[in-house]
Amino acid sequence: MIVMKFGGTSVQDAAAINQAVEIVAGKLDRSPVVVVSAMAGVTDALLLIARLAREHRFDDASPIIDQLRERHLTTARELLNKPAEHSFYQVAQGLQENLTELEGFARSVATLGELTPRTQDTIASFGERLSSALVASALQARGVSAELVDSREFIITNDRFTSAAPNFPETEARARYSLLPIIESGRVPVAQGFIGSTTEGATTTIGRGGSDYSAAIIGAAIGAEAIEIWTDVDGLMTADPRVVRDARRIRVISFAEASELSYFGAKVLHPSTVLPAVERAIPVHIFNTRNPECEGTLIVATPKRSLNVIKSIAFKRGVTIVNVASTRMLLAYGFLRTIFEVFDRHQTSVDVVTTSEVSVSLTLDNADQLEAIKRDLSGIGAVSIERDKAIVCVVGDNLKFTPGVAARLFKAIESTNVNMISQGASEINLTFVIEESEAERVVQSLHEEFFSEADSEVFA
Ligand code: ADP
Ligand code: ASP
Ligand code: MG
Repeated sequence: MIVMKFGGTSVQDAAAINQAVEIVAGKLDRSPVVVVSAMAGVTDALLLIARLAREHRFDDASPIIDQLRERHLTTARELLNKPAEHSFYQVAQGLQENLTELEGFARSVATLGELTPRTQDTIASFGERLSSALVASALQARGVSAELVDSREFIITNDRFTSAAPNFPETEARARYSLLPIIESGRVPVAQGFIGSTTEGATTTIGRGGSDYSAAIIGAAIGAEAIEIWTDVDGLMTADPRVVRDARRIRVISFAEASELSYFGAKVLHPSTVLPAVERAIPVHIFNTRNPECEGTLIVATPKRSLNVIKSIAFKRGVTIVNVASTRMLLAYGFLRTIFEVFDRHQTSVDVVTTSEVSVSLTLDNADQLEAIKRDLSGIGAVSIERDKAIVCVVGDNLKFTPGVAARLFKAIESTNVNMISQGASEINLTFVIEESEAERVVQSLHEEFFSEADSEVFA
């Protein structure tokens, strides 16, 4: 058994879906489970609909719903008009029902002018519900006996809507119960990424980009031999290829390296994805739907050592620094705990932390609760905020063994003002914070410094 996850661009239109279908059809002997994202841009559109509705602007939301209807129906028509007209009408009816339901939710939100996280998740769930219906029917039209399943029946989560955490034992039992009989009878389950439900049956989502995570959760639950993440790049690269044009593909990388990279901004993989895979030692592959011949990136527990000190450079924009200074910190214990309790209370996670005798600096990538956090922290010390920063992170197992990397790194970017520096306890990352406007240039300079020569056994 394998899990094959197709991201938004891999299902963005009929041509892309047909590509994905061919890829699945070529792997039937490995008993695939297919997991799909919403068509590219659809989750953003749904969240916009939700926001407009909350502002009582149903009239502005309604044309966006119409566009979604048009896009999905057109795709269905392009995918299904030839083989059996009947199947098109069936699928179209299913899509219409979903869209009518979506419209109903948008209307209720607009009437009340209130959007709870719970309702927002229900609205966001339609993207994957619509795309999975298209993919399942396209597979059927290609002669693959695919069966559309509802992930909400087996991805069981807590009720932290918009970033719900899965309950693994419950999910594992239910996923096996739902999926194994289908696989054993030679059919291909097609499931939605990103969505789940609480034990009470309320629809939840597991965070933006969460379909990768869904694939890993399902893979771990059914004991898959491999998890395949099909996306729009050849694999995990030495830097985001949109920023560094000559970024190289990494052939093999460790679970630890991959998770640090995704955590610090390499969007190609959701940061939690590798967790369920590590626990069961299931290899994760990243493949390109548009270039399926390419061997991609393989993520494993212990890859061969590379001659290069680092494997990749990630960065994340939109970071806020919070500084707390207090002489009370001098020789006092419990100070850090008091500070972290504030972030805990406001459900805000902290990425990078540095401390000195009298101050603590922390970075947040979600500043939604900033005002409340600031208020609470000002009881502890003097608080200052710096916005529009970026985190840059270089990652590689070899950082552990190679002296002088920091010197080389900061020499390569010596004209840049660095706000914070931190080396993770895992010793495989070196992370620093700079002005957001300088991030791209810094990543490019570092790429030149560290990858102008690359070990060809590890980098393609
Ligand atoms: P999907 O919709 O398939 O989940 P995403 O857009 O979430 O795809 O992730 C793929 C994108 O991640 C690529 O198009 C690329 O621009 C970006 N990316 C950022 N950093 C990296 C990296 N180090 N290697 C590969 N891709 C990266
Ligand atoms: N559709 C969701 C998103 O855009 C999940 C995903 O694509 O992974 O965030
Ligand atoms: Mg993604």
